[in-house]
Amino acid sequence: MERDKLEKVREVLKGAKYLVVLAGAGLSQESGIPTFRGADGLWKQFRPEELATFDAFRKNPDLVWEWYCWRRSIIARAEPNPGHYAIVEMEKRFEQFFLITQNVDGLHRRAGNKKFVEIHGCIWESRCLNCHNVIEDHEIDHRKIPPCRKCGGRLRPNVVWFGEAIPDMSLRKSIYSAQNCDVMIVVGTSGYVQPAASLPFHAKQNNAFVIDVNVEATPVSEIADVFLQGKAGEILPAIVG
Ligand code: NAD
Ligand code: ZN
Repeated sequence: MERDKLEKVREVLKGAKYLVVLAGAGLSQESGIPTFRGADGLWKQFRPEELATFDAFRKNPDLVWEWYCWRRSIIARAEPNPGHYAIVEMEKRFEQFFLITQNVDGLHRRAGNKKFVEIHGCIWESRCLNCHNVIEDHEIDHRKIPPCRKCGGRLRPNVVWFGEAIPDMSLRKSIYSAQNCDVMIVVGTSGYVQPAASLPFHAKQNNAFVIDVNVEATPVSEIADVFLQGKAGEILPAIVG
C-alpha cells in the first residue's frame, strides 16, 4: 500500500460529509468465506453461476439446497474481520453514512453496522415460492428443503440469484445514496455483477470521490480516483486509523 495514496484518502475523508461503502464478497474472504470468482469458488466442480440461478433450482432443487447448506455451514463458523469493524467505525464517524452490501452472510449486522442494505438478500432467510412468506431459518433443519410452515409450499433461499432483480426499495436506496454521497469506498467487489457494478459509476458521474480497495484491479479501479491494492482487512483499518 502506497503511503501517499493512503494519506490522500484520509485527507479526503476528513472533509467528507456523506460516505457510502459498497461491499462485495472479497470483504468476507478473510473471514474464511469463499468468493465466487476465485480459486476456492468451486463446489463439487460446479461454478456458482451454474447453481445460483432460479433455473438451476427449478431443475435440481436438492442440489442447489445442498450447496446453500454447505455455504451456510461455512458462514456459521465465520466471524467478522477487521475490515468489517473498520466499516462500523466509519458509520460512527459520519453522520451521513450508508453501506450497500452484496454479501449475504450477515457479518455486517454481527459486526455492528446499522445503516445498511443487503441488496442480494440474506442466506439466513428462506422464502416460500407459493405464498412469499419469508422466514428466518437459523433453527430449521437444512439438510433437506423444509416445507413452508404457513402453506406447505416449497421454500427457496431468500437471496437474489443471477438473472433476478434486486428488490425495488433496496435498489432505489442504493442508487439514491450513490448519487448523493461525496465519497464512495468500494471494497472486495469484482465489478461484474449488475446492477451493483453500476453504483460506483453513478457516484463518479455525480462528482463523488471514488476509492477502490481490492487485491487486484477491476473495472472499478479504472474509474476510481484512488485504487488501494491489498487486503480489505488491512487497508480499511489503515484508512480509519
Ligand atoms: P466476486 O466473488 O465476484 O469478487 C470478489 C472480489 O473480491 C474480487 O474482485 C477479488 O479480487 C476481491 N478480493 C478477494 N479477496 C479480497 C480481500 N481479502 N480483500 C479485498 N478484495 C478481495 O464478488 P462480488 O463482486 O461480491 O459478486 C459476487 C456475488 O456473490 C455477489 O452478488 C454476492 O451476493 C455473492 N457472494 C456473497 C458472499 C458472501 O456473502 N460472503 C460470498 C460469495 C459470493
Ligand atoms: Zn407458503
